[in-house]
Amino acid sequence: FIAGKRKATEVAHLIWKNIILRGDTVVDATCGNGYDTMALLKLIADGSTRGRVYGLDIQKSALENTSYLLRESVDEDRWDLVKLSLLCHSRMEDIVPKDIPVRLIAFNLGYLPGGNKTIITKPHTTMSALQAASRLLMSGGLISVVVYVGHSGGREEFETVLSFASGLSVESWSSFKFETVSRPSGPALVFILKK
Ligand code: SAM
Repeated sequence: FIAGKRKATEVAHLIWKNIILRGDTVVDATCGNGYDTMALLKLIADGSTRGRVYGLDIQKSALENTSYLLRESVDEDRWDLVKLSLLCHSRMEDIVPKDIPVRLIAFNLGYLPGGNKTIITKPHTTMSALQAASRLLMSGGLISVVVYVGHSGGREEFETVLSFASGLSVESWSSFKFETVSRPSGPALVFILKK
């Protein structure tokens, strides 16, 4: 399924499609320009009032871009299913209700494409956010991480994600990584599944 000119994010979306059920609650931990939020919304939306996408970003412009994309591309009756918060993803537990099982938590790390490249995810907060994600996730759920290793600090952040994944108990978790072989600076994917 990785054949052709697929981007790493499209590969992640294909995996999500096999995990998410209509009516699920999911989290986009890095909304950016909203493409992942929109993909998540399309997978959870089922015409009922169930299901939510909780989206976070630390940049107002990212949340504005996400809202704009949703309003342009998704039917109005579905806009309400997305709850956007201007908040660091390490604090996702502040906004996701404790009693709702979360099926998928998506991270697309790095900086906002077309935005300020110095506002970027950092290994320390990424680690806290992954820990928060592991507490929120339901059994059978997925933490999906796209990491860009080509920019300064990217390789270190990838190592942080790997160290988080490899530190989880094998009784309850399994994790997988996909690395770009054709380009040494290409993105990597890490999928962390809760058994
Ligand atoms: N998912 C996005 C999309 O589909 O367009 C792309 C995300 S972009 C690569 C990374 C985003 O992470 C940026 O918008 C950036 O502002 C955001 N970010 C950086 N640090 C963050 C943090 N601590 N908490 C939440 N978002 C953060």
